[in-house]
Amino acid sequence: GATIGVLGGGQLGRMLSIAAAQLGYRCHIYAPEEAPPAADVSAAVTQGDYGDGDALRRFAAQVDVVTYEFENIETGPVLELAEVVTVRPSIGALQVAQDRLSEKDFVSGLGGRPAPYRAVSSRAELDEALGEIGTPAILKTRRFGYDGKGQARIMSRADADAAWAATGGQPAMLEGFVSFEREFSILLARSVDGQVVIWDAPDNEHKSGILDRSTVPAGPLIRAQAAEAGELARAVAAALDYVGVLTLEFFASENGPVFNEMAPRVHNSGHWTIEGARTSQFENHIRAVCGLPLGAVDLVAARVEMVNLIGGDVHDWLTTLADPNAHLHLYGKGEARPGRKMGHVTRLEF
Ligand code: ATP
Ligand code: MG
Ligand code: MG
Repeated sequence: GATIGVLGGGQLGRMLSIAAAQLGYRCHIYAPEEAPPAADVSAAVTQGDYGDGDALRRFAAQVDVVTYEFENIETGPVLELAEVVTVRPSIGALQVAQDRLSEKDFVSGLGGRPAPYRAVSSRAELDEALGEIGTPAILKTRRFGYDGKGQARIMSRADADAAWAATGGQPAMLEGFVSFEREFSILLARSVDGQVVIWDAPDNEHKSGILDRSTVPAGPLIRAQAAEAGELARAVAAALDYVGVLTLEFFASENGPVFNEMAPRVHNSGHWTIEGARTSQFENHIRAVCGLPLGAVDLVAARVEMVNLIGGDVHDWLTTLADPNAHLHLYGKGEARPGRKMGHVTRLEF
């Protein structure tokens, strides 16, 4: 089998490697960490920074195709990589999705409806943006944020100084606060020849800005909005000539689906698909980047629930292991720091 290069070595890379191995492929991980979670289950690992052009070229020479499980990387050196090896999804998708401002502009252009937003690149612009958008609002760095990092809530204008300090004066955007009922995501996979599959939309609950739980099928409100959101995701994928798994996050509001952000990769809210769908997000991503047809994505149970195991949480392992419908996943990370995703549990109900 061919060798798939993966930029990023976290738990998403780990689960991609496992899915690739089942199909007879090898994964070669490229990551800055010394012993990333994906390393123990992958055929090869190159340790290097995402900005290290030489190391990236050596990596590219050893793989047949490159994909990524982490979008917060400098595109410059990766752009060069794309000249010598096929990168899927394309660098264009990576560029759009790694900047909150460009992803909102892009998705709005295709008919998506985000919360009101304004670019903010100085303290004075934050005041102007607050004048237009009002409060409550959220200031978010345009790049490098995840799990709610790089965000500050502004409940009244008195919070503006603190918010500006909290985001470190980085290029940012101000976004109106959405009073939503539920949150959900659209997980889509698109093949090289344009075949598209969309899994059932999970209902996502967050705690402290971190995904806590995903449940499928979602309730009636989300189910009523998933078709419109899915059409938007299809349009985004088509416009980017996307190959692989693409995730769009939404708020289900009284006025329909509000687009939050997109991720050009497999996603935490799709972990339930490993046991809960006929083909997992990881397998379909591997199939797509390797040019294979996609697998069916129907639910295999009446209900599926995925709960994250976050560092510091107490978890009753024995109860999980004794439950015949529960599946325990641990990512092999050493230290359980607060807020760190250590594993997850998926429970099926038939
Ligand atoms: P991820 O780990 O999903 O990449 P992130 O750091 O990119 O997260 P967001 O998805 O922008 O951050 O926000 C994290 C969570 O904060 C959202 O899932 C939602 O619960 C809440 N949130 C973000 N933006 C808004 C908003 N405009 N109005 C209300 N809640 C919001
Ligand atoms: Mg994000
Ligand atoms: Mg998010």
